Amino acid sequence: MNLEQTYLRLPDIFYTQQTPEKVASPELALLNRPLALELGIDPNSFESEKEIAEIFSGNRIPAGAVPFAQAYAGHQFGNFTRLGDGRAIVLGEVVDPRGKRWDLQFKGSGRTPYSRRGDGRAALGPMLREYLISEAMHAFGIPTTRSLAIVKTGEPVYRETVLPGAILTRVAASHIRVGTFEYAGAFHGPDAVRALADYAIDRHYPSVRNDPNPYVAFLNEVITRQANLIAQWMCFGFIHGVMNTDNMLVSGETIDYGPCAFMDYYDPATVFSSIDRNGRYAYGNQPPIAHWNLARLAETLLPLFDQDESRAIEIAKEVLDRFESKYLENWFSGMAAKLGISSLDDKDRTLILDLLRLMHERQMDFTNTFVSLTQGESIDLPAEWISRWNACRQAQTISREDSQKLMQKTNPRIIPRNHLVEAALSAAVEQQDLTPFNNLLTVLQSPFGAATDLPAKYFEPAPRGGAPYQTFCGT
Ligand code: AMP
Ligand code: MG
Repeated sequence: MNLEQTYLRLPDIFYTQQTPEKVASPELALLNRPLALELGIDPNSFESEKEIAEIFSGNRIPAGAVPFAQAYAGHQFGNFTRLGDGRAIVLGEVVDPRGKRWDLQFKGSGRTPYSRRGDGRAALGPMLREYLISEAMHAFGIPTTRSLAIVKTGEPVYRETVLPGAILTRVAASHIRVGTFEYAGAFHGPDAVRALADYAIDRHYPSVRNDPNPYVAFLNEVITRQANLIAQWMCFGFIHGVMNTDNMLVSGETIDYGPCAFMDYYDPATVFSSIDRNGRYAYGNQPPIAHWNLARLAETLLPLFDQDESRAIEIAKEVLDRFESKYLENWFSGMAAKLGISSLDDKDRTLILDLLRLMHERQMDFTNTFVSLTQGESIDLPAEWISRWNACRQAQTISREDSQKLMQKTNPRIIPRNHLVEAALSAAVEQQDLTPFNNLLTVLQSPFGAATDLPAKYFEPAPRGGAPYQTFCGT
């Protein structure tokens, strides 16, 4: 691994150099070999599994690494707080064979100056959850951080109960958050914001350098990526669960798989997270919350937009106002694709909205409704809607065959069903049996494929009538 640290060229207010705390007896639980190869890390170049565990636990720091924890802040459930990597440490950046730069970050690697009252550690269950769901998101084609390895630490972590500890190695285009900008703006002023913006532009949006105002263009690019990202979440029934501004990346990747979960039956009010009591981050609130978060980013950039504050605000408003139309464009075309419609008009938009209303009224499973429509299975929808849908499909310029293909590649047959995820995690944590986890991970890697011979449980929603599913930040 050739590790670099361009982030350390930023003013030192943005980080603290910090070595991961050593752990008692590291044991490799998972290594994502395909991802390692994509990054240009040859998994066969390690001497042994033991060496891999030593490296991805932070016990052995590779030559060239200068580990550091990042400073940031954020609005958590609407309240501004000073934060920072309290239990994460960036090991360094790798440049993959295509020239793309990635952060390698340990999560659960011990205390840092930003730990506040936390222990800096992570439990195995939540790290397995992040690994599974982030890899599922990747297989769906949704921009996301990824998971390279999980090492069990051999140490207990103390939560409500005593749990096995683990360290996840996360791979991200970068870990620059909306909250990193808020930190710069609130505590260090416009020069710090400018340094961070310049860094983020070089790393993620180098083309905006040619724009008359690169910082405005930068905001516009972040808005574009986030509008696309949230639309994709919505099209897959994904509920992030903790869309605080420190959990939103300017690169447009999904990050922080704490209390996230996929919706079963369609209901915009769906909330799984036990701490989201007011439903701030409910499924249907995700687009306006993303918009709100982006407004927090825009605020920090105001001094870079124009010397005249009211002019700067006008500019920011104008750019922010584009979020909704960008989002709706992405969402409608994503939803249309799920119905085999490639170029949509107003009739198609009504068709989509009517379908969602019907699904809500009839408590229909979000994923499986689209699977049934794709497979041409009989379905609990009025004949009136079906015939309108057929008419919309007939009116397409693409062939029926291409329309069918469009549906097949936008409607996953398999999602990380909550009950399956829980069963896989409890087998792994309570019985030290990773088999159900690995089986689920494998099927989630081809979510669209035929895979018709899989056990029925992979296709079915949770049985009705149980207690409502709840997730926990479980950190
Ligand atoms: P999250 O909810 O995972 O986005 O975390 C919010 C903030 O709390 C971040 O700054 C984390 O680094 C910090 N944090 C979460 N868990 C711990 C922990 N066990 N020890 C120290 N800091 C933590
Ligand atoms: Mg976070």
